[in-house]
Amino acid sequence: MIVNAGGVKCGQGNFIIIGGPCSVESETQIADIAEKVKAGGADMLRGGAFKPRTSPYDFQGKKEEGMEWLLEAKKKTGLPVVTEITGVEHLPLYDDVDVIQVGARNMQNFELLTELGNTRKTILLKRGMANTLRELLSSAEYILAGGNDNIILCERGIRTFETETRNTLDLAAVPVLKHMTELPVIVDPSHGTGHSYLVEPMALAAAACGADGLMIEVHSDPARALSDGQQAVTPDKFTEIVAKVRRVRAAV
Ligand code: PEP
Ligand code: MN
Repeated sequence: MIVNAGGVKCGQGNFIIIGGPCSVESETQIADIAEKVKAGGADMLRGGAFKPRTSPYDFQGKKEEGMEWLLEAKKKTGLPVVTEITGVEHLPLYDDVDVIQVGARNMQNFELLTELGNTRKTILLKRGMANTLRELLSSAEYILAGGNDNIILCERGIRTFETETRNTLDLAAVPVLKHMTELPVIVDPSHGTGHSYLVEPMALAAAACGADGLMIEVHSDPARALSDGQQAVTPDKFTEIVAKVRRVRAAV
């Protein structure tokens, strides 16, 4: 199945690369990264405005203002955008957003999934950190039940006993999901590992095992990022990863 992501095709041989910061931090930050990921070969821009953070004392996102800056960056670069939704009440703000992300923490927010099923927006549904693949598909079913089949699934790592990585990236999920469903499957090696040095090898592995795309966190100054800096790659590194990933895709 091919899903339309803001004019970009995802699935059945159409590989999509999404790059951008974990969070939209300022108008200039997102504009700068948007230009750089575009130059580096990204098909789509990411950036969180509504951020679900583990601690209430951590940066919570720039919310409405961040959404405006993200849409400005979309206008300037022409890149379609994906950004997370954390509550149904925010849905009216997503009219110009190309792909709405449901994060790991909301994978089983059934009310939210049902509402998104009533739209015809493309939904990027991330696997919950403690959810099975059947549960992921059951969540997708909530969206499908409303008649919306514009869904891209995303493996982003799960909780295991291993602590050297932030999550354990379950790459077997890719061929397993391909066996179970027609929906496209992408991989997020940033949250899947939690370390910038692991993003390239796992991105290449994802491309080799049949993923339909990647979502990679990119920051111009990772050390100063307001969220997830330790797993962000620089725009130069992103450019290098994109070139290598495209070579792997051409080879498999
Ligand atoms: C994100 O993409 O920034 C994010 C919060 O991801 P996840 O929901 O997978 O933790
Ligand atoms: Mn993040």
